[in-house]
Parts: sequence; C-alpha cells; structure tokens
Amino acid sequence: MNGSMASGVLDLWAPQQEKESVEVNDRSYDERVCDVLIIGAGGAGLRAAIESHDRGAKTLVVCKSLLGKAHTVMAEGGIAAALGNVDPKDSWEVHFSDTIVEGQHLSNWRIVEIFAKEAIERVYELERYGAVFDRTPAGKISQRPFGAHTYRRLCNIGDRTGLELIRTLQDQVVARGVPFMDEVMTTCLFRDPKTGRAAGALGIDIKTGKLLLFRARAIIIATGGSGRVYQVTSNSYESTGDGIGMAYRAGAELMDMEMIQFHPTGMIYPPGVRGMLVTEAVRGEGGILTNSEGERFMSKYDPKRMELSARDVVARSIYTEIMAGRGSKGGGVYLDISHKGADHIKKKLPSMYDQFLAFADIDITKDKMEVAPTVHYQMGGIRVDPETAESSVKGLYAAGEVASGLHGANRLGGNSLSDILVFGKRAGDAAAKSATAVDLPSVDSKEVEKEISRVLSPFSSTGSANPFHIKEEIASNMWAHVGIVRNAVDLEAGLVEIERLRKDAKGLKAVGPRAYNQSWTDSLQVLDMLLICEAMIRSALERKESRGAHTRSDFPAKDPKWLVNIITVQEDGKMVRRTVPVSTPPQELQRLIKEDD
Ligand SMILES: Cc1cc2nc3c(=O)[nH]c(=O)nc-3n(C[C@H](O)[C@H](O)[C@H](O)COP(=O)(O)OP(=O)(O)OC[C@H]3O[C@@H](n4cnc5c(N)ncnc54)[C@H](O)[C@@H]3O)c2cc1C
Repeated sequence: MNGSMASGVLDLWAPQQEKESVEVNDRSYDERVCDVLIIGAGGAGLRAAIESHDRGAKTLVVCKSLLGKAHTVMAEGGIAAALGNVDPKDSWEVHFSDTIVEGQHLSNWRIVEIFAKEAIERVYELERYGAVFDRTPAGKISQRPFGAHTYRRLCNIGDRTGLELIRTLQDQVVARGVPFMDEVMTTCLFRDPKTGRAAGALGIDIKTGKLLLFRARAIIIATGGSGRVYQVTSNSYESTGDGIGMAYRAGAELMDMEMIQFHPTGMIYPPGVRGMLVTEAVRGEGGILTNSEGERFMSKYDPKRMELSARDVVARSIYTEIMAGRGSKGGGVYLDISHKGADHIKKKLPSMYDQFLAFADIDITKDKMEVAPTVHYQMGGIRVDPETAESSVKGLYAAGEVASGLHGANRLGGNSLSDILVFGKRAGDAAAKSATAVDLPSVDSKEVEKEISRVLSPFSSTGSANPFHIKEEIASNMWAHVGIVRNAVDLEAGLVEIERLRKDAKGLKAVGPRAYNQSWTDSLQVLDMLLICEAMIRSALERKESRGAHTRSDFPAKDPKWLVNIITVQEDGKMVRRTVPVSTPPQELQRLIKEDD
C-alpha cells in the first residue's frame, strides 16, 4: 500500500450524490490520501487546518458531527490572554505564573511559557480573522475577571465566546478551500509497520455506513475531551474521548489521566439539563455563592479571592457545604447575580439568562440559581512535545483538550480557548513541515482487515448488550466512584465495575442498517470509554496525595514526592504506568512564579 503524494485525493467539493446505507456486512472501503489528516473540527482542529494548509500541505479535516457543531461552540466565558487592555499591569509573565501555580506545579513549564507568550498574538489574529469581541469604552478588546487569574484577562464575546471563535475559524477554513468531511467517525490509527510512523486511520461515514481508509504523512488528533464518561457533565455528546482511545491503542503515551476538572457550577434541575454549565463569568461579573443558611461560605475557604478562587477550591467548597447538610433545596448551593440589575445581566450573560428561563423557568435577573459541581474538562491526555505537539508516536500530533501538559492539576478558566489556538497552530505547522519531508507511510493491509472485523463485529454479535445502557452504567460508575473526593476503596470498586462492564461489552449488539446507526457508533465508543476510565482510575489510585482537582480523602495532603507526571502506555497489550519528575523551569522563569498565599 505504498502511494505517491496525495495521488488519491478525491474532489471533495464535487457535488455528492445521495447515497444509501451500505449492506451491514460490506467490508469494502474508499481510500483518501492527504499530507496532513486532522481528526476533529473544534477550535484546535480548525486552527491546525489553517496553519497546515497555509504551509502548503494537502490537508483534510474529518469530524464526527457537523462542521460548526464541535464542543468548542459551547464555550462561554472567554479566552485568557494577557493583553493588558483593562489591567495594564498584566503580562505574559503573570499569566505564566498563574497557570503554573494554579496547576499545582504539575504543568510542563515550556508548554506554559509558549502558551502565555503566544496566546496574546493568537487573540489579535482571531480579531484580524473577523471575530467581533466585546470592547472597552476606549474601543479595545474587553477583558473580564475569572477565577484565580491575577488580572482581568478573559477576552469575550458576551457569554458566547466559543460560538464566535468557531464561526471565525470555520470561515477561514472554508474560504481557503480546505477539504473537510463531517459526520465521519474515525475508529483506529495505523502505523507504518517498518518505521512505526503514524500512517492512517479507519473511518466510518456515518451518513451511509461506508468505511473509509485515510492515509496521510502526518496526523493531528484534535478530538477534544472525554467528559461523557461521567453522569453529570457540561460536555457535549461527542466528548467521548475517542482520540485518547485511538492514540493509546496506537501506542502513544498518555499523561495525568487522573486529573479531571469538576466545574463548581452546573445546573442541577430539571433532570434533563443536570450538569449543564453555569459559566464562571457569572461569578466574574459579581455572582455570589451562599448556602442554605444564607452564609457567603467562600469566606471560610478563600477569604481573599472568595467566589473567584481556583476552580478546584470552589468545587471542593461547594461539595463540602452540600455534604455538611447546608445545601440548597435542590441539593446544590445558591448563586445570585440579581443585584447586578437586568440590563447588565442581559448584556453580559445573555445565554445564562436564556438558559435558566428556558430550562428551569427562573429569571436570573430576579431570582437565585441553584448550582452544583459538574465534570467539565480533562487536564490529562496525550503526552506531547512542547514545541511541536508531536506525541510519542512519530508523525502523530495532538492539540487541544485531547493533549496534556498545559493545565497541570487544575485548569484556569479561559485557558482552554487560548490553548486550542496556540497549540492548534503549532501542531498544524509542525505536521505540515514533517509531512513534506517524508514519503507516504505504508499501511499494513492485514491491520486494516483486522480493524474492519473489529468495527463490524457489533452487527454479527450473538450477544444482546445495549451500548446505550453500558454508556449509562460507565457514567454512573465514574460519578459514584471517581468523584471530586476519592479514596482507594471507591476507586478499587470503580475498577471492578469497569472490568464487569468490559465483559458485558463483549456482547455489544448493533441493530438496524449501517447509515446513521447510533447503536453501532456507540458500541465502538463504549470500548474506548472503558479504556479511558481504566486509565483514569489506575492513575487516581497511583497518585497517593491530594493535588488540584485530584483529592484523596485517604491521602489529604499535597506531597512533594508526588511532583511527578503519571504516564500511561500500552505495552504487550497491557496498560502500564510509570512516573516521571516534572521538569524544573530555568532560573529566569522560576523567578516569575509568585505563590499565592
Ligand atoms: C459549556 C462549556 C463552556 C466552556 N467555556 C469555556 C470558556 O469560556 N473558556 C475556555 O477557555 N474554555 C471553555 N470550555 C472548554 C473548551 O470549550 C474546550 O476545552 C475546548 O473547546 C476544546 O476544544 P478542542 O478543539 O480541543 O475540541 P472540541 O471542540 O471538543 O472538538 C472535538 C472535535 O473532534 C471531533 N471528534 C471527536 N471524536 C472523533 C472521532 N472519533 N472521529 C472524528 N472526529 C471526532 C468532534 O466531532 C469535534 O469536531 C468550555 C466547555 C464547556 C463544555
């Protein structure tokens, strides 16, 4: 299966004929060849696509939902970058320090340095691309306060920042004519049998059920997070962690999988929207948290920063209040912004106003909200090189929420949107450069046939396991056993349950035709979700301390011995772990780090 450069690229812009579902046992596949394959069309994937294309690489973007629907579109509060428009004292140096300190020193210092420096230019670039930011009275990009950022740093478009970011990047991608294929779900990565370089991926065209073989000189994974392995989450339905599963199965190293961010404020009712995010911008704009006794309880936990403390601190404080019986009627705590007045709220938080009115029949300009922690973000993920975003597999890059190293043990609000721009661009640049320097890697046809058998197996299964039920059981298990506060007994119980579910998953059954078959695509996602959960639980068991988002009731203190990153990798078919010390920043950067008292 050797091929010449981009010889097999089809004209993806040619009018497509409506196709019917393929037969359930059809093993044939169409082939697509490109220089750089980008899996995922959120902010990271789109920014990577722009860069890769501009560097002259034949770039192809695939995503499993529709273009413009990626999880990034849900981002609300803003993009963190030290422009210093509102607080002139702000600088990349302070942003660097805030990110290192609030990440509890687990971040890779070089990744944070690049991030803090380059975030500024990425925001101005987004503006040049056409993003319409909120303005200061002087006409500069406006910046709002957010938890644990020393200065007002979040550039925003009301509370619809992600929507504007995606719209802007998507316009750029479409204007450049970068080909994309949406509603295509990739299931596995292939490596060149001789060189070990990433060589391709198998995909399913969800619209028809047809199989696709992608071959590329370099691959960028930008598939986002895995919040959907939890029952209560702010994440979109597509955040099932497929990219982490694919990379792990291809031999890439994962890092810090135990670090899951619980956002302090998610909606708690009605049940259908439980976990839906209540943006930190509500607290940034002056929202106050109180318990059932009317006490502004953050004064006990962080009297200096109050509601704008770090996310892990606020989430644990809310959890403590609820567990101590001082929760709200609905089982959360109260969040009130009504004192800011209707005009201000509707201007600065229009989505929050609409969200509570539509779903909970609450007018937040008059009444309090009830909120509780919700799973929001994964700090861990694919281990990458700081300069290039290349994973431990040659030719395989990762950017955005799927990658690790920036946020350490706790992500600061707003740092993800700048992360996806900074490292999306870097991944696109490095992948394009490396793609032009190599011949098209080979894909082993036996590996392809093996993957096709695996992918089609739910149709021929003699079992009757329902993927929707298994997904629900995975999510409730993680919520019950791998929550905000963990301990060895619960974690072990969680692992036993994962093993039980893995046995059940052997009988996963897909029913119906191949086109738009969710029982099929969910069956495949379930297998990776089980892998990810196992990695999360084993890492959580391994880290015998409390640090940032990882709180162990049986090891309540932070322990300098655990200033290490936990690496998870597949060796001889087994999941193994090792620890590596977090590298120490050079003197000139160490001097910038200001510990918070
Ligand atoms: C409600 C909410 C509000 C948020 N607000 C903010 C904020 O204000 N500021 C901030 O900094 N962060 C915020 N975040 C976090 C931030 O939005 C995300 O971390 C970020 O957008 C992730 O971007 P990404 O490009 O890495 O991935 P995503 O946007 O998740 O995109 C992933 C892409 O991968 C595709 N994909 C996944 N699996 C496959 C597969 N198997 N095959 C093919 N394609 C696949 C998906 O279809 C999608 O196109 C918020 C998150 C939520 C949930």
